[in-house]
Amino acid sequence: MRPGLIERYRDHLPFGPQDTLVTLLEGGTPLLRAPMLSERVGAEVCLKLEGANPTGSFKDRGMTCAVSAAVREGAEAVICASTGNTAASAAAYAARAGLRCAVLVPDGKIAMGKLAQTLMHGGRVIALQGNFDKALQMVRELADTHPIALVNSVNEFRIEGQKTAAFEVIEDLDGAPDVLCIPVGNAGNITAYWRGFTEMGTAPRMFGFQAEGAAPLVLGHPVEHPETVASAIRIGKPARGDQALQAVRESGGAIRAVSDAEILDAYRFMAVKEGMFFEPASAAAVAGLLKYGHDGAKRVVCVMTGRGIKDQQTAMEHHAGSIIPCEPDMDALVEAVLG
Ligand SMILES: *Cc1c(COP(=O)(O)O)cnc(C)c1O
Repeated sequence: MRPGLIERYRDHLPFGPQDTLVTLLEGGTPLLRAPMLSERVGAEVCLKLEGANPTGSFKDRGMTCAVSAAVREGAEAVICASTGNTAASAAAYAARAGLRCAVLVPDGKIAMGKLAQTLMHGGRVIALQGNFDKALQMVRELADTHPIALVNSVNEFRIEGQKTAAFEVIEDLDGAPDVLCIPVGNAGNITAYWRGFTEMGTAPRMFGFQAEGAAPLVLGHPVEHPETVASAIRIGKPARGDQALQAVRESGGAIRAVSDAEILDAYRFMAVKEGMFFEPASAAAVAGLLKYGHDGAKRVVCVMTGRGIKDQQTAMEHHAGSIIPCEPDMDALVEAVLG
Protein backbone atom coordinates (compact mmCIF):
# COMPACT_ATOMS: atom_id res chain seq x y z
CA MET A 1 0.00 0.00 0.00
CA ARG A 2 1.21 3.52 -0.81
CA PRO A 3 1.92 5.25 2.53
CA GLY A 4 0.52 8.58 3.70
CA LEU A 5 2.68 11.65 3.31
CA ILE A 6 4.27 11.61 6.77
CA GLU A 7 5.71 8.14 6.18
CA ARG A 8 6.72 9.07 2.66
CA TYR A 9 8.59 12.22 3.70
CA ARG A 10 9.48 11.32 7.26
CA ASP A 11 13.06 12.59 6.84
CA HIS A 12 11.70 16.07 6.24
CA LEU A 13 8.94 16.08 8.86
CA PRO A 14 8.92 16.37 12.67
CA PHE A 15 7.69 12.82 13.40
CA GLY A 16 9.58 9.83 14.70
CA PRO A 17 9.01 6.09 14.27
CA GLN A 18 7.23 5.83 17.66
CA ASP A 19 4.61 8.43 16.80
CA THR A 20 1.08 7.26 16.07
CA LEU A 21 0.17 8.72 12.70
CA VAL A 22 -3.33 9.79 11.76
CA THR A 23 -3.56 9.36 8.02
CA LEU A 24 -6.19 8.92 5.32
CA LEU A 25 -3.46 8.41 2.69
CA GLU A 26 -3.33 12.04 1.66
CA GLY A 27 -0.77 13.42 -0.77
CA GLY A 28 0.61 11.77 -3.89
CA THR A 29 -1.79 13.86 -5.97
CA PRO A 30 -1.52 13.97 -9.78
CA LEU A 31 0.21 16.66 -11.80
CA LEU A 32 -1.92 16.95 -14.91
CA ARG A 33 -0.97 18.69 -18.14
CA ALA A 34 -3.48 21.33 -19.24
CA PRO A 35 -3.25 21.50 -23.06
CA MET A 36 -5.97 24.10 -23.68
CA LEU A 37 -4.72 26.38 -20.95
CA SER A 38 -1.12 25.92 -22.12
CA GLU A 39 -2.14 27.00 -25.61
CA ARG A 40 -3.90 30.13 -24.36
CA VAL A 41 -1.04 31.09 -22.07
CA GLY A 42 1.85 30.19 -24.41
CA ALA A 43 3.74 28.07 -21.87
CA GLU A 44 3.54 24.51 -20.63
CA VAL A 45 1.04 24.58 -17.79
CA CYS A 46 0.47 21.70 -15.38
CA LEU A 47 -2.16 21.46 -12.68
CA LYS A 48 -1.41 20.12 -9.21
CA LEU A 49 -4.68 18.37 -8.43
CA GLU A 50 -5.05 18.87 -4.71
CA GLY A 51 -8.73 18.01 -4.89
CA ALA A 52 -7.55 14.39 -5.17
CA ASN A 53 -6.79 14.42 -1.45
CA PRO A 54 -9.15 12.41 0.82
CA THR A 55 -11.52 15.26 1.74
CA GLY A 56 -11.11 17.05 -1.59
CA SER A 57 -8.64 19.80 -0.74
CA PHE A 58 -4.95 20.35 0.08
CA LYS A 59 -5.87 20.98 3.72
CA ASP A 60 -5.48 17.21 4.32
CA ARG A 61 -1.70 17.48 3.87
CA GLY A 62 -1.48 19.83 6.80
CA MET A 63 -4.17 18.07 8.80
CA THR A 64 -2.46 14.66 8.89
CA CYS A 65 0.46 16.41 10.63
CA ALA A 66 -1.58 18.74 12.85
CA VAL A 67 -3.86 15.96 14.11
CA SER A 68 -1.02 13.45 14.53
CA ALA A 69 0.79 16.08 16.63
CA ALA A 70 -2.39 16.75 18.63
CA VAL A 71 -2.65 13.02 19.44
CA ARG A 72 1.01 12.97 20.44
CA GLU A 73 0.41 15.90 22.79
CA GLY A 74 -2.56 14.14 24.37
CA ALA A 75 -5.22 16.53 23.08
CA GLU A 76 -8.83 15.38 23.29
CA ALA A 77 -10.27 17.92 20.93
CA VAL A 78 -9.27 20.02 17.93
CA ILE A 79 -10.67 23.35 16.86
CA CYS A 80 -10.34 25.64 13.86
CA ALA A 81 -11.84 28.68 12.19
CA SER A 82 -12.67 27.90 8.61
CA THR A 83 -13.99 29.10 5.29
CA GLY A 84 -15.01 25.45 4.79
CA ASN A 85 -12.21 23.15 3.72
CA THR A 86 -10.22 23.29 6.94
CA ALA A 87 -13.42 22.37 8.79
CA ALA A 88 -14.10 19.38 6.53
CA SER A 89 -10.53 18.18 6.82
CA ALA A 90 -10.25 18.71 10.58
CA ALA A 91 -13.53 16.88 11.17
CA ALA A 92 -12.42 13.91 9.05
CA TYR A 93 -8.99 13.54 10.67
CA ALA A 94 -10.46 14.09 14.15
CA ALA A 95 -13.01 11.34 13.47
CA ARG A 96 -10.23 9.04 12.37
CA ALA A 97 -8.24 9.81 15.52
CA GLY A 98 -11.21 9.57 17.89
CA LEU A 99 -10.95 13.24 18.88
CA ARG A 100 -13.75 15.73 19.22
CA CYS A 101 -13.80 18.53 16.69
CA ALA A 102 -15.33 21.99 16.77
CA VAL A 103 -15.23 24.45 13.90
CA LEU A 104 -16.08 28.12 13.82
CA VAL A 105 -17.43 29.22 10.45
CA PRO A 106 -18.80 32.55 9.19
CA ASP A 107 -22.57 32.00 9.32
CA GLY A 108 -24.08 31.27 5.91
CA LYS A 109 -20.78 31.93 4.14
CA ILE A 110 -19.35 28.48 3.51
CA ALA A 111 -20.08 26.17 0.59
CA MET A 112 -22.74 23.56 1.25
CA GLY A 113 -20.58 20.56 0.34
CA LYS A 114 -17.98 21.56 2.92
CA LEU A 115 -20.64 22.02 5.59
CA ALA A 116 -22.13 18.62 4.74
CA GLN A 117 -18.70 16.97 5.01
CA THR A 118 -18.02 18.55 8.41
CA LEU A 119 -21.42 17.52 9.78
CA MET A 120 -21.11 13.97 8.41
CA HIS A 121 -17.85 13.50 10.28
CA GLY A 122 -19.57 14.52 13.49
CA GLY A 123 -17.99 17.95 13.77
CA ARG A 124 -19.60 20.56 15.98
CA VAL A 125 -20.24 23.49 13.67
CA ILE A 126 -20.48 26.87 15.33
CA ALA A 127 -21.95 29.49 13.01
CA LEU A 128 -20.42 32.83 13.96
CA GLN A 129 -22.16 36.12 13.26
CA GLY A 130 -18.91 37.48 11.87
CA ASN A 131 -16.32 36.82 9.19
CA PHE A 132 -13.40 34.38 9.03
CA ASP A 133 -10.88 36.84 10.47
CA LYS A 134 -13.01 37.34 13.58
CA ALA A 135 -13.49 33.56 13.87
CA LEU A 136 -9.73 32.94 13.70
CA GLN A 137 -9.03 35.60 16.31
CA MET A 138 -11.57 33.98 18.64
CA VAL A 139 -10.37 30.37 18.27
CA ARG A 140 -6.77 31.48 18.80
CA GLU A 141 -7.81 33.05 22.07
CA LEU A 142 -9.81 29.97 23.09
CA ALA A 143 -6.97 27.57 22.27
CA ASP A 144 -4.55 29.71 24.31
CA THR A 145 -6.58 29.20 27.45
CA HIS A 146 -8.04 25.68 26.96
CA PRO A 147 -6.55 22.23 26.27
CA ILE A 148 -7.74 22.18 22.68
CA ALA A 149 -5.40 21.85 19.71
CA LEU A 150 -5.73 24.66 17.17
CA VAL A 151 -5.41 23.20 13.66
CA ASN A 152 -5.51 26.34 11.52
CA SER A 153 -2.46 27.07 9.39
CA VAL A 154 -1.03 29.21 12.21
CA ASN A 155 -0.15 25.72 13.52
CA GLU A 156 3.42 24.94 12.29
CA PHE A 157 2.54 21.29 11.64
CA ARG A 158 0.07 22.39 8.99
CA ILE A 159 2.82 24.17 7.03
CA GLU A 160 5.17 21.23 7.46
CA GLY A 161 2.62 18.84 5.96
CA GLN A 162 1.65 21.15 3.13
CA LYS A 163 5.22 21.75 2.01
CA THR A 164 5.27 18.15 0.73
CA ALA A 165 3.22 19.25 -2.27
CA ALA A 166 6.29 21.15 -3.50
CA PHE A 167 8.39 17.97 -3.10
CA GLU A 168 5.93 16.07 -5.29
CA VAL A 169 5.93 18.77 -7.97
CA ILE A 170 9.73 18.62 -8.11
CA GLU A 171 9.65 14.81 -8.39
CA ASP A 172 7.05 14.83 -11.15
CA LEU A 173 8.75 17.54 -13.22
CA ASP A 174 12.26 16.38 -12.45
CA GLY A 175 12.95 19.84 -11.03
CA ALA A 176 10.96 22.89 -10.04
CA PRO A 177 8.78 24.78 -12.54
CA ASP A 178 9.78 28.33 -13.50
CA VAL A 179 6.60 29.77 -12.03
CA LEU A 180 4.06 28.59 -9.45
CA CYS A 181 0.57 30.12 -9.47
CA ILE A 182 -1.45 29.70 -6.31
CA PRO A 183 -4.56 31.24 -4.71
CA VAL A 184 -3.95 33.08 -1.44
CA GLY A 185 -6.37 33.31 1.46
CA ASN A 186 -4.87 33.02 4.92
CA ALA A 187 -1.50 32.60 3.14
CA GLY A 188 -0.52 29.29 4.74
CA ASN A 189 -0.26 27.35 1.50
CA ILE A 190 2.00 29.77 -0.39
CA THR A 191 4.20 29.84 2.71
CA ALA A 192 4.29 26.03 2.73
CA TYR A 193 5.15 25.67 -0.98
CA TRP A 194 7.95 28.19 -0.65
CA ARG A 195 9.35 26.30 2.33
CA GLY A 196 9.14 23.02 0.40
CA PHE A 197 10.85 24.43 -2.68
CA THR A 198 13.65 26.10 -0.75
CA GLU A 199 14.27 22.99 1.36
CA MET A 200 14.91 21.17 -1.92
CA GLY A 201 17.28 23.90 -3.10
CA THR A 202 14.91 25.27 -5.74
CA ALA A 203 13.36 28.69 -6.15
CA PRO A 204 10.51 28.98 -8.66
CA ARG A 205 8.92 32.40 -8.90
CA MET A 206 5.86 32.42 -6.69
CA PHE A 207 2.76 34.22 -7.94
CA GLY A 208 -0.09 34.39 -5.44
CA PHE A 209 -3.57 35.54 -6.38
CA GLN A 210 -6.23 37.13 -4.22
CA ALA A 211 -9.77 38.12 -5.17
CA GLU A 212 -10.16 41.87 -5.71
CA GLY A 213 -12.68 42.17 -2.89
CA ALA A 214 -10.40 40.30 -0.48
CA ALA A 215 -6.91 41.44 -1.46
CA PRO A 216 -5.18 42.74 1.69
CA LEU A 217 -1.71 41.69 0.48
CA VAL A 218 -2.17 43.60 -2.77
CA LEU A 219 -3.61 46.69 -1.08
CA GLY A 220 -1.08 46.64 1.75
CA HIS A 221 -3.67 46.81 4.52
CA PRO A 222 -6.35 44.55 6.06
CA VAL A 223 -9.79 44.42 4.47
CA GLU A 224 -12.58 44.80 7.04
CA HIS A 225 -15.34 43.26 4.96
CA PRO A 226 -13.78 40.84 2.46
CA GLU A 227 -16.13 39.82 -0.34
CA THR A 228 -15.72 37.41 -3.25
CA VAL A 229 -17.50 34.52 -4.95
CA ALA A 230 -14.44 32.42 -4.01
CA SER A 231 -15.46 31.72 -0.41
CA ALA A 232 -12.28 29.75 0.41
CA ILE A 233 -10.18 32.90 0.01
CA ARG A 234 -12.66 35.40 1.49
CA ILE A 235 -10.12 36.56 4.08
CA GLY A 236 -9.23 40.13 5.02
CA LYS A 237 -6.33 39.66 7.47
CA PRO A 238 -4.15 36.73 6.39
CA ALA A 239 -2.39 35.19 9.40
CA ARG A 240 0.72 34.41 7.35
CA GLY A 241 0.60 37.51 5.19
CA ASP A 242 4.16 38.58 6.04
CA GLN A 243 5.53 35.17 5.10
CA ALA A 244 3.61 35.23 1.82
CA LEU A 245 5.13 38.62 0.99
CA GLN A 246 8.56 37.31 1.91
CA ALA A 247 8.08 34.28 -0.37
CA VAL A 248 7.16 36.42 -3.36
CA ARG A 249 9.94 38.91 -2.66
CA GLU A 250 12.62 36.25 -2.31
CA SER A 251 11.44 34.33 -5.36
CA GLY A 252 10.95 37.32 -7.65
CA GLY A 253 7.19 36.83 -7.85
CA ALA A 254 4.21 38.89 -6.69
CA ILE A 255 0.80 38.83 -5.08
CA ARG A 256 -1.81 40.12 -7.48
CA ALA A 257 -5.57 40.54 -7.65
CA VAL A 258 -8.17 39.02 -9.96
CA SER A 259 -11.82 40.03 -10.18
CA ASP A 260 -14.74 37.71 -9.50
CA ALA A 261 -15.65 37.91 -13.20
CA GLU A 262 -12.13 36.73 -14.10
CA ILE A 263 -12.34 33.95 -11.51
CA LEU A 264 -15.66 32.76 -12.90
CA ASP A 265 -14.35 32.86 -16.51
CA ALA A 266 -11.40 30.68 -15.50
CA TYR A 267 -13.73 28.41 -13.48
CA ARG A 268 -15.88 27.76 -16.56
CA PHE A 269 -12.92 27.52 -18.93
CA MET A 270 -11.30 24.76 -16.89
CA ALA A 271 -14.54 22.81 -16.64
CA VAL A 272 -15.56 23.18 -20.29
CA LYS A 273 -12.15 23.05 -22.01
CA GLU A 274 -9.97 20.95 -19.69
CA GLY A 275 -12.66 18.66 -18.28
CA MET A 276 -11.66 19.57 -14.74
CA PHE A 277 -14.06 21.01 -12.17
CA PHE A 278 -12.36 23.06 -9.47
CA GLU A 279 -13.80 25.31 -6.83
CA PRO A 280 -13.78 29.08 -7.50
CA ALA A 281 -10.80 29.76 -5.20
CA SER A 282 -8.69 27.31 -7.22
CA ALA A 283 -9.75 29.01 -10.43
CA ALA A 284 -8.21 32.24 -9.07
CA ALA A 285 -4.75 30.79 -9.81
CA VAL A 286 -5.73 30.16 -13.43
CA ALA A 287 -7.46 33.55 -13.67
CA GLY A 288 -4.24 35.20 -12.52
CA LEU A 289 -2.14 33.30 -15.04
CA LEU A 290 -4.53 34.25 -17.85
CA LYS A 291 -4.67 37.89 -16.77
CA TYR A 292 -0.99 38.59 -16.11
CA GLY A 293 0.69 36.06 -18.43
CA HIS A 294 3.50 33.57 -17.95
CA ASP A 295 6.15 36.27 -17.50
CA GLY A 296 8.76 34.47 -19.57
CA ALA A 297 8.28 31.08 -17.91
CA LYS A 298 8.53 27.85 -19.90
CA ARG A 299 6.99 25.63 -17.27
CA VAL A 300 4.17 26.80 -15.02
CA VAL A 301 2.35 24.89 -12.28
CA CYS A 302 -1.06 26.03 -11.05
CA VAL A 303 -2.09 24.74 -7.65
CA MET A 304 -5.69 23.59 -7.94
CA THR A 305 -6.55 23.64 -4.28
CA GLY A 306 -10.01 22.05 -4.11
CA ARG A 307 -12.77 20.22 -5.94
CA GLY A 308 -15.64 21.95 -7.70
CA ILE A 309 -18.37 19.68 -6.34
CA LYS A 310 -17.87 21.17 -2.89
CA ASP A 311 -19.60 24.37 -4.00
CA GLN A 312 -22.66 23.34 -5.96
CA GLN A 313 -24.42 26.66 -5.52
CA THR A 314 -21.79 28.65 -7.40
CA ALA A 315 -21.79 25.98 -10.11
CA MET A 316 -25.57 26.12 -10.50
CA GLU A 317 -25.41 29.90 -10.81
CA HIS A 318 -22.52 30.11 -13.26
CA HIS A 319 -22.34 26.93 -15.34
CA ALA A 320 -22.08 26.74 -19.11
CA GLY A 321 -24.46 23.79 -19.55
CA SER A 322 -28.22 23.76 -19.97
CA ILE A 323 -31.25 21.82 -18.72
CA ILE A 324 -33.89 21.18 -21.36
CA PRO A 325 -37.32 19.90 -20.29
CA CYS A 326 -38.68 17.04 -22.39
CA GLU A 327 -42.04 15.32 -22.84
CA PRO A 328 -41.85 11.47 -22.91
CA ASP A 329 -42.14 11.47 -26.70
CA MET A 330 -39.55 10.62 -29.39
CA ASP A 331 -40.06 13.74 -31.50
CA ALA A 332 -39.64 15.89 -28.40
CA LEU A 333 -36.47 13.97 -27.50
CA VAL A 334 -34.98 14.40 -30.97
CA GLU A 335 -35.72 18.12 -30.79
CA ALA A 336 -34.23 18.34 -27.28
CA VAL A 337 -31.04 16.54 -28.26
CA LEU A 338 -30.42 17.93 -31.73
CA GLY A 339 -32.45 21.14 -31.86
C1 LIG B 1 -7.74 27.12 2.16
C2 LIG B 1 -7.92 27.27 0.70
C3 LIG B 1 -7.23 28.23 -0.06
C4 LIG B 1 -6.33 29.25 0.56
O1 LIG B 1 -5.20 28.71 1.19
P1 LIG B 1 -4.43 29.58 2.29
O2 LIG B 1 -3.45 28.66 2.86
O3 LIG B 1 -5.49 29.99 3.28
O4 LIG B 1 -3.87 30.75 1.59
C5 LIG B 1 -7.40 28.24 -1.43
N1 LIG B 1 -8.23 27.38 -2.04
C6 LIG B 1 -8.93 26.46 -1.35
C7 LIG B 1 -9.84 25.55 -2.08
C8 LIG B 1 -8.81 26.37 0.03
O5 LIG B 1 -9.53 25.47 0.70
